Order: sequence, then C-alpha cells, then structure tokens
Amino acid sequence: MNIYVMMKRTFDTEEKITINNGVISEDGAEYIINPYDEYAIEEAIQLRDKNGGEVTVITIGGEESEKELRTALAMGCDKSVLINTEDVEDGDQYTTSRILAEYFKGKDVDLILGGNVAIDGGSGQVGPRLAELLDIAYVTTITKLDIDGNKATVVRDVEGDSEVIETSLPLLVTAQQGLNEPRYPSLPGIMKAKKKPLEELEIDDLDLADNDIEPKTKTIEIYLPPKKEAGKVLEGEVEDQVKELVSLLRNEAKVI
Ligand SMILES: Cc1cc2nc3c(=O)[nH]c(=O)nc-3n(C[C@H](O)[C@H](O)[C@H](O)COP(=O)(O)OP(=O)(O)OC[C@H]3O[C@@H](n4cnc5c(N)ncnc54)[C@H](O)[C@@H]3O)c2cc1C
Repeated sequence: MNIYVMMKRTFDTEEKITINNGVISEDGAEYIINPYDEYAIEEAIQLRDKNGGEVTVITIGGEESEKELRTALAMGCDKSVLINTEDVEDGDQYTTSRILAEYFKGKDVDLILGGNVAIDGGSGQVGPRLAELLDIAYVTTITKLDIDGNKATVVRDVEGDSEVIETSLPLLVTAQQGLNEPRYPSLPGIMKAKKKPLEELEIDDLDLADNDIEPKTKTIEIYLPPKKEAGKVLEGEVEDQVKELVSLLRNEAKVI
C-alpha cells in the first residue's frame, strides 16, 4: 500500500503563548507534531505493518520542520518530504491543500491520513479540501479503520456517537483522539531515522503559478482571550440570593 501522512508542525499549546505586534511570538516557543497527526502516523505504521507497503510523511513548512519529520521517521515512517515554503509569503488552508494536491498529482496513492484538526490554526479544512482537489473519498474524525483489499470500513466520531462508513480506496481520512495510542520513538528508531530519506522540495519544483496558491482568506487580528474576572459569591437567604442574581444578570451582565 502507498500510504501518506500529512503532518503539521504546531505550537505546543501547553506553553504560554505571547503576541507581539499582532503576531504570535516565536521566541522560546516549543514546537511539536500536531497531536492529531501523531494518531495519523501511528495508524499509518500499523496499516503498513499489517498490509505491507510504505509510509511517507509530508509537511509544508520551513527547514525547522525537519525535526518533526525525523521524529515521524523515528516512530516508523519510511520516507519523508518537506515542501519548503520559507520564501512564500502568507498562506491559508487553500494554499496548503493546493500545494499538497499538486504534490500528489500523478502519484499512486492508496491512503492519505491527516489530523482531524491542527491545534493552532484549528480549521479542520486541509484534509477535506485536499480530497476534493484529488477527487477521492474522505472521512473525517475517524476512531477506527479496517482495510480489506480495496474496501475500507471506517468508524467516525459524531459528537460522542459513532457512525460506520464503508468506502473504497483511494481514501483520505482524518484522525480523532482514540484512534490508537501513538508510540514514542525508540532509541533504535531514532538512530535509524537519521539515515531514512528526507526529500526537500521548493514550491518552484511543483507545477504551481503564484496565483495558484494565493490565499483566499486574510487574518485581520490575533488576540488573547480577555483575562477572567474574579467570580462573585452570593450570600444570605436563598430568596435574597435569587433576587440579587436576577438583578446582576439584568443590570450588570445584561443577559436578561
Ligand atoms: C505558504 C504558506 C504560508 C503560510 N504562512 C502563514 C503565516 O504567515 N501565518 C500563519 O499563521 N499561518 C501560515 N500558514 C499556515 C496556514 O495558514 C494554515 O495554518 C494551514 O493552512 C493549516 O490550516 P489549519 O491550521 O487550520 O489546519 P487544519 O485544516 O486544522 O489541519 C488539519 C490537518 O491538515 C494537515 N495539515 C495542516 N497544515 C499542514 C501543513 N502545513 N503541512 C502538512 N499537513 C498539514 C494535518 O494533517 C492537520 O492535522 C502558511 C501556510 C502556507 C502553505
């Protein structure tokens, strides 16, 4: 099987994020593999081990994404591809999916796995957009995947309930928490990863004109949520508390 994983390098949101001049500050920020993409990587490796074939992990980003690609290789992916966008200004979900679609053009693809959502941009658009561009089936937020020949049986999470879908390859799926338990790279895995292929492509290597990847959206402003104010504890008889609460909701919070 030809299995591909699309992986995004993201901010570690456990870290404290600061914003300088309307841009998220990269000073001292820690970066990780988007956690949902770790499920995608793990699933790809398990499917390869069961069905044979090869797993290629691909990312769009700068040179620094090499670190996360090496981690994916250490987990067990066979090959990696970095599409370097350092010299390309501004991009959005359209840009990312358009670049990926161009990369996949003419390739023999059985399965593409990605995360259900990136924990930074958080739009959950790249997977479905890419599948549309490639004109292949897709299933999002999956928690189980069985492949039997050309047939795929997928369980997807629908707000806590499950939906079972049967479809066929080629297929794109996006991973939800619970799909599997991603492994940690082992020491031999880390050593092996150093010798595994990492192909680097520039935008110019793909058949894309500037206006092909022009973003369709523009970020106007980025800001942190307002600090939470201290809560108010009401005291006294229940009846008085209810009166005070209603008055606060009407006059202070202005919600009734
Ligand atoms: C040329 C270029 C320049 C950019 N410049 C900026 C910028 O200046 N500022 C900024 O904030 N953002 C920039 N971006 C990132 C972009 O705006 C979005 O963050 C990105 O398209 C993904 O959207 P999302 O985070 O909502 O992902 P989602 O759609 O939520 O991601 C879902 C899944 O799609 C896959 N995926 C998402 N992004 C990538 C990727 N890059 N590579 C491989 N797989 C991926 C992963 O599997 C991920 O789990 C740029 C992107 C490109 C291509």
